[in-house]
Amino acid sequence: MFSAEQAVAWIERTAAVVEENGVMLTKLDSPIGDGDHGTNMVRGFRAVLERVGALEDKDFASLFRTVGMALIGKVGGAAGPLYGSFYMGVGKRLGAAGEAGDGELAAALRAGYDAVVARGKAQPGDKTMLDAWYPALDALDQAVGDGAPLAAALDGAAAAAEEGMKATIPLVARKGRASYLGERSKDHQDPGATSTFLIVKALADTVNAR
Ligand code: ADP
Ligand code: MG
Repeated sequence: MFSAEQAVAWIERTAAVVEENGVMLTKLDSPIGDGDHGTNMVRGFRAVLERVGALEDKDFASLFRTVGMALIGKVGGAAGPLYGSFYMGVGKRLGAAGEAGDGELAAALRAGYDAVVARGKAQPGDKTMLDAWYPALDALDQAVGDGAPLAAALDGAAAAAEEGMKATIPLVARKGRASYLGERSKDHQDPGATSTFLIVKALADTVNAR
């Protein structure tokens, strides 16, 4: 079971983790991008915290709509609309409820992923955030389907996201700014896959009450 209180805690923890890792994310975006991913995400999640703090009804739909709108409005770049679409997709699927079953949460995250694909038209293997999302959601679906407790299933998802993030290093980018570099985008870890790992890890840590 996943509650709207846990969802709020997830978002707040994500904002803290993004803040801590902003410099690292920007560093990753420097050789294969324009060196702004960290500053973009930090700016976006500061706006998220402000708007979520001011929100009266923190059911899933209004919470995630607020998060998505803040990111679309404040992050800019490629990642703003993509992460914005992710959270909007999650909120739309969960609806104005305060609790979701484990399978419902997994399906909602999947709906968020589908929204990112619909907007960005990338595929796993293109060296983008999808390379962290895809294995994470696959692991989550499998574990939840096998009846694993949500906390353990999310730990598995975070481990898979980390693997996927690292697996972007040898890839040649086929989408986004990094794709302009062609072969020279090799041997660099994708910044968006890295922020996605942080987001999934924040969810696992929240549900595990760490
Ligand atoms: P910009 O590239 O506009 O400067 P950011 O630096 O904030 O935006 O984000 C870059 C990240 O966005 C990349 O590392 C990649 O993971 C992700 N990204 C770029 N294009 C796409 C896409 N079409 N689909 C999914 N993710 C993408
Ligand atoms: Mg950038």
